Order: sequence, then C-alpha cells, then structure tokens
Amino acid sequence: MTTATVDMTAVGIDKRWPEMLATKTISTDEADIAIVGGGLHGCSIALQLARRGKRVVVFEKDHPGRHASGVNAGGIRRLGRHPAEIPLAEASLAMWRQIEPLVGDDCGFHAVGQLKIAESNADMEILTARAEQVRALGFTHEQMIGRNRLREIVPDVAPHCVGGLWCEDDGAADPFRTTAAFARAAAAAGARFRIGERVMAVNRSRGAWQIETDAGTCHAGVLVNAAGAWGGEIAKMLGDTAPVVPTALMMMVTSRTNRFLTPVCGLASRKLSFKQTPEGTLLIGGGHVGRISHDGECAIPDPKKFGLSARTVIDVFPHLRNLTVNRTWAGIEGVMPDQLPVIGPAANADVAFHAFGFSAHGFQLAPITGTIIADLICAERSSLPINSFDVGRFASNTNG
Ligand SMILES: Cc1cc2nc3c(=O)[nH]c(=O)nc-3n(C[C@H](O)[C@H](O)[C@H](O)COP(=O)(O)OP(=O)(O)OC[C@H]3O[C@@H](n4cnc5c(N)ncnc54)[C@H](O)[C@@H]3O)c2cc1C
Repeated sequence: MTTATVDMTAVGIDKRWPEMLATKTISTDEADIAIVGGGLHGCSIALQLARRGKRVVVFEKDHPGRHASGVNAGGIRRLGRHPAEIPLAEASLAMWRQIEPLVGDDCGFHAVGQLKIAESNADMEILTARAEQVRALGFTHEQMIGRNRLREIVPDVAPHCVGGLWCEDDGAADPFRTTAAFARAAAAAGARFRIGERVMAVNRSRGAWQIETDAGTCHAGVLVNAAGAWGGEIAKMLGDTAPVVPTALMMMVTSRTNRFLTPVCGLASRKLSFKQTPEGTLLIGGGHVGRISHDGECAIPDPKKFGLSARTVIDVFPHLRNLTVNRTWAGIEGVMPDQLPVIGPAANADVAFHAFGFSAHGFQLAPITGTIIADLICAERSSLPINSFDVGRFASNTNG
C-alpha cells in the first residue's frame, strides 16, 4: 500500500451548524443545565435532558463532530470491553438497535459483527481466557470460533490465522452522521447550541453556575462536563483531578475494492481495527498514535505508523497488497490512565457532572451516557453500575 496524507482535522467550522442548531429568539443566557462540549456525548446528554423538559444549553468551541465524535472509526463494539463497561455497552447496544426512533436517522448503523482474529495458538489462549472471563461475569456475547468458522466469516483471511473471538451482534455506524443526528434531535427537542463559543471559566454563585465564555455569560442550575479530551481542564475548574491525556488516534481509508469483508476485524495481539465500508473502501485504524499540535486543537498523524498498519492488514489479508491509501487523518481523543471514562457527579463541586475521557471507545457508549447523566440529574440515581467511572478514583480527589 502507498499513502498520501491529508490532515482531515484541518477542516474548519462548518458554517451550516449555527443555522441548523441555534434559535436566536430563545435566550441562551439562562438554562437549567449547561453542557460543555457538543461532541456525541454532549449531544446525547442534551437530547435526553431536553426530552425531559429541561432547558439545556450546549457550549461547543468548534462545532459538533469536529473532534473524536465525528472522525472516529464508527465501531459499535462490546467485544473486548473492560468488565466494568460491559453492562453499559449492552444497554447502549439496545439503544443503537432503536437508533432511528431515537434520533430520526439510522446513523448508518449495521450489526455486521466484530471479530478479533487469532494469528497463533498463543493468541487463541489469550482469547479463550477472555471468553471465559466474560462468561464468568454472566455474559455470552463473545464466542470463540475455530479455523473453519473463521473462514466462513472472513473467507479471504491468511492461512496462518487459526480462529478468533466473535461478537455477532456488534457492528459499526457512521460517526459524523450520528453526531449530526443527535445534535439535530437535541435541538428539535429544545436544546440550544452556542457554537464556536469556548467555556473559559465556571463559578458557583448564589446557588447557580455562572459560565464565562469567550463570547458571553450564562447562568445554569446544573453543569455537565462533556468536553472530551479537554475534560480535564473543565474538571480542574470544578476542583477535580482527572489526568486525561489528549491522544492523536490515526485512521486511513484505501481505494475501493471488491466486497470481501462483512464484519469489523481486529487482531488478538497486534494493533489493528478495520472494516470495509458500503462503498468498498477499507477503513483502517486500531490505536496507532500521532501527535497533538502545540495549541492542543489539532491531531497530526505519524506517516510511519500508517505503513505499519498497512503491513499488518496485508499480513492478514494478503490479496490487498496492491490497494492504495486515499486519505489519512487523526482525531483527538481523551484517554484516561486506566482506559475507563469518567462518568458521574463531580467530587468537589455541587450539581456538576462529568462524562468524558472515553479512551478510544466512547462512540458505542454515547446513547447510554445520555440516559445515565439525565437519570443522575433528574432522578439522582443511575440504574446501571457506574462506580468504576467515578472521578474520585484519582488520588487527589479522594484525599481532597
Ligand atoms: C480516530 C478515532 C477512532 C475511534 N474509534 C472508535 C470506535 O471505533 N468505536 C468507539 O466506540 N469509539 C471510538 N473512538 C472514540 C470515540 O470517538 C470517543 O470516545 C467519543 O467520540 C468521545 O465523544 P465526546 O463527546 O466525549 O468527545 P468529543 O467528540 O471530543 O467532544 C468534546 C467536545 O467538547 C468541546 N470542548 C472542549 N472544551 C471545550 C470548552 N472549554 N468550551 C466549549 N467546548 C469545548 C470540543 O471542541 C469537542 O467538540 C475513536 C476515536 C478516534 C479519535
């Protein structure tokens, strides 16, 4: 494969967003709930709260989908999740199956399955142990498959591949279309978007949050931090410590080829995630990392690592060796030290909530995050277990 690099993150603010989402006749200076961040999680939270009759304002410094939510691989994956995330991922998948009634768009969701391929017997042992761990927790969604079943699912896989771990009901969706659909649905339910407006400071005064932006002020009863890779900055304004690392995750797309692949594929012991799009191109990612620009606003790919990804794909599907790479990009994602998101109340501030740091696997979880945060705000409880995601797990919060 050969690569030609285009930095997709250089794309500017889409001028249509303000027209689509802002309603000038309704004041956005006061709200029941202010959400910092108009990525998929912020939009999902806004949707759930607006549908419960709350006055919601979303602050987005760029535009919805500009960062991780609009440029990710679109994987709808329970396969391989940390045990603490599995109940949330199950509940979120149930919402993905009903995504069109939820947001008025099918978001390109297809339950094509997700597969982790074993390239050796050692890989098979790793995957078998994982399948047993999941089964012991009472879940059955991850199934071991052998050499023959692997070839039924991916007939062109290389001869050295010996089996895999298969999650039949997982799949993929279109990330930008999904974020746009959630933003539109939230706006239709009454949420207001202040796009191109950066939250600079938040203060609690006279029982309300005063939100200072680079363009004005807003007062709100409740504050939600859905600021993605910038979530640590907002947490700090609330007195919380959250060591989120902004990370430049890389993607590439090849030219079209004949349809040969249905599921989303990864490998047991090498970095890779790839799928064939409905148009026939291959979308390749899997965790290779570039760098973040000095101002912290752009993700810059590392061309050498694209070569590594391309070679890995060819190892597993040798017939692809003559494909060309048409586009590459990187997106900024907030990664936590333990790879688990922060979801729940702030530790050191009243009526403030966090939902950020989804550590490269938050696209799938976004529908359920909206419900969880809305439940916490409106009913002061979550029906799903979220203790593992508490911001208090970081030392200075528990001591402070
Ligand atoms: C290349 C790549 C591939 C990925 N692949 C997958 C995948 O296949 N499956 C999966 O489940 N997940 C995947 N992810 C992860 C997933 O995209 C993210 O976890 C998810 O989109 C995070 O959504 P978010 O709303 O929390 O963050 P974002 O989409 O980053 O949104 C946060 C928003 O907050 C705004 N903001 C920040 N600070 C401020 C401020 N002070 N004022 C106003 N606005 C502010 C930002 O501009 C941003 O738009 C991938 C991520 C990347 C980058």
